[in-house]
Amino acid sequence: MANKQSILVIEDEKNIGNYIETILASNGYKVLRAINGMTGLSLCTSHFPEVILLDLGLPDLDGMEVLQQIRGFSDLPIIVISARTQEKEKVEALDSGADDYITKPFGAEELLARIRTALRHRLHANRSLTQEPVYSRDGLVIDFERRTVTLHEASIHLTQIEYKLVSLLARNAGKVLTYDSILKEIWGPYADTDNQILRVNMANIRRKLEANPAEPHYIFTEIGVGYRMLE
Ligand code: CA
Repeated sequence: MANKQSILVIEDEKNIGNYIETILASNGYKVLRAINGMTGLSLCTSHFPEVILLDLGLPDLDGMEVLQQIRGFSDLPIIVISARTQEKEKVEALDSGADDYITKPFGAEELLARIRTALRHRLHANRSLTQEPVYSRDGLVIDFERRTVTLHEASIHLTQIEYKLVSLLARNAGKVLTYDSILKEIWGPYADTDNQILRVNMANIRRKLEANPAEPHYIFTEIGVGYRMLE
C-alpha cells in the first residue's frame, strides 16, 4: 500500500472537523486533527503533514497567529477555512502566506479540488523550475516561452500588461491570487496603483478571451478577494 498523504486539520468545531475527516479519509488521505492552535502547531512540527487546513477562528490562538508561526519555519501548503463574512480575514490570510481558502459551507468536491491544487503546487515548488512551459485548457493556450496566447487556434493580441496578468494567473492556475499580490507582482511593490487599474485590465482581457465576459470560463472573480484561473 502506498504511503498516504497526510492532511492536518486545525478546526475547533467538531462537526466540521468530522465532516472534513470523513471526506478526506474516504479519499485515501491520512487525517491529523487538532482542535486548537497550540495542538495544531505541535502536530505540524512532529508529523510533517503535506497540507494544512486551518480554521481562522480558534479558541486559543488566532488563526492568523498560527498561520504566521507556521510560515516562520515551513512553506507547506495552508488552506484557510473561513466563514462567508470573513472577507477581510481571507485576504489578510492569503497575503500572509496562506495558499488558498475555502468558505463554509463547502462540499466534498470543492474540498478535494482545493487539496489537489495545494498538493500540485507543492510538487511544483519542490521541483522549482520544472514548471510546464505551456498552459492549455479548453482551447486556451498560453506559451510562456514564446509569449503567445491562442484561443481555439486563433491568435489573441494582448497588451504587455494584459499578457503579464494572464500568464501570472495561468502559472498559478487553480489558486486564488489576491488583488494586492497581483498588483505587487505586475506593477511592483511601490507602484501607485489600485484595484481599479486591475479591474480595467481584467475587463479588457475578458473581452478578448471569454465568449461571455459576464460568465467567465477561464478567469474567475473571487469577490472581494482576487482572481483564480481555471485549473
Ligand atoms: Ca472555529
